[in-house]
Amino acid sequence: MAMPPRRSAGHDESDPQHASAETAIVGAGMAGLALARALAGNGRRVVVFDKGRGVGGRMSTRRDGPHAFDHGAQYFTARGPRFREQVQGWCDAGVAAEWRARFVALDGGRVGADPRPGPRFVGVPGMNEVLRELGRGLDVRFDLRVSALVRHEARWRLRSAEGDELGAFARVVVAVPAPQALPLLAQAPALVRRVAAAEFAPCIAMLLAFERPLEVPFDAAFVAHPPLRWLARDSGKPGRAPGERWVVHAGPEFSTQHLEDDPRALLPELFEAFGAAIGLELPPPLSIDAHRWRHALPTRVLSDGPAWDAGLGLGYCGDWCRDARVEAAHESGLELARLIDASG
Ligand SMILES: Cc1cc2nc3c(=O)[nH]c(=O)nc-3n(C[C@H](O)[C@H](O)[C@H](O)COP(=O)(O)OP(=O)(O)OC[C@H]3O[C@@H](n4cnc5c(N)ncnc54)[C@H](O)[C@@H]3O)c2cc1C
Repeated sequence: MAMPPRRSAGHDESDPQHASAETAIVGAGMAGLALARALAGNGRRVVVFDKGRGVGGRMSTRRDGPHAFDHGAQYFTARGPRFREQVQGWCDAGVAAEWRARFVALDGGRVGADPRPGPRFVGVPGMNEVLRELGRGLDVRFDLRVSALVRHEARWRLRSAEGDELGAFARVVVAVPAPQALPLLAQAPALVRRVAAAEFAPCIAMLLAFERPLEVPFDAAFVAHPPLRWLARDSGKPGRAPGERWVVHAGPEFSTQHLEDDPRALLPELFEAFGAAIGLELPPPLSIDAHRWRHALPTRVLSDGPAWDAGLGLGYCGDWCRDARVEAAHESGLELARLIDASG
């Protein structure tokens, strides 16, 4: 049974071409959308499926009542010329801006200098805005978890977690974190062997809103001591709604150790660690919530980048093919688009 598309990011459902899109991309994160845009720009018909309710993936912006948080990626840098140009385009379009803030290193009680190079950029008014921009006009279908790719008569049939048929495609790209890519690539053992080399660490995030600004001499900090790794005044990023909101990330050891716990049960411990790290007796928060990123950051990336098997019409891309960064995800998508175009 062919499923009607669910909520979609701006395609014309009366367009008969969508019934015969030749390329399906699983994953509407930075890698999948950069790929989709590049392929569509070269005249290919593409449809993107994502299990989420909107674009973003690990660059999502999450709402907790009236409060919005960048609870995954905190910022992005642009080291290569192509991504720099892309970021400049987003800044010109008003969907990204440089995040100029007081960045520090926190080590025990000591406040040290910013240990990493900038400039740093964020989506405006939320991190996911750059992905909205990237996905504009593309056929992106949400609330659809692809659970299987089945080879049938030289095409790939996509099946949803509910067992529905999502269509048959000449080409499929899996643009999801490596552990989630493995079951989808099951019919291509050579690809599975390569993807299995990638490893991820989890991250538990704590999202906090306060009535008044916290009086600290910084806006974001790389934290040297477990259980925390990072904390930032999310409301201080450019173009955010007024308020005092913080995002706190636990480090990989703590997050791994507590991966199967209810993340909300970890809030008292993380709240206490936050106060201790910034040296403040914290006031009761207006809101407090937690999020578990099961596959947050690749800790081991592939040495040979994204891959395309032209014979099978199957490939993969994602940050884990290059580096644990937004820019790497973007570049992996563009690299795969070149491989696909070169294969005809
Ligand atoms: C806590 C955290 C902090 C980070 N901080 C930074 C930072 O400060 N700077 C930086 O550069 N990077 C940071 N990153 C990394 C950055 O977010 C990633 O490198 C980048 O977003 C990866 O993009 P992607 O497209 O490869 O994957 P993703 O963003 O993971 O996109 C994959 C998409 O696939 C979808 N999906 C998965 N499985 C299925 C399925 N079966 N069917 C349908 N859809 C599916 C998901 O919903 C998701 O939308 C951080 C990440 C996390 C989690």
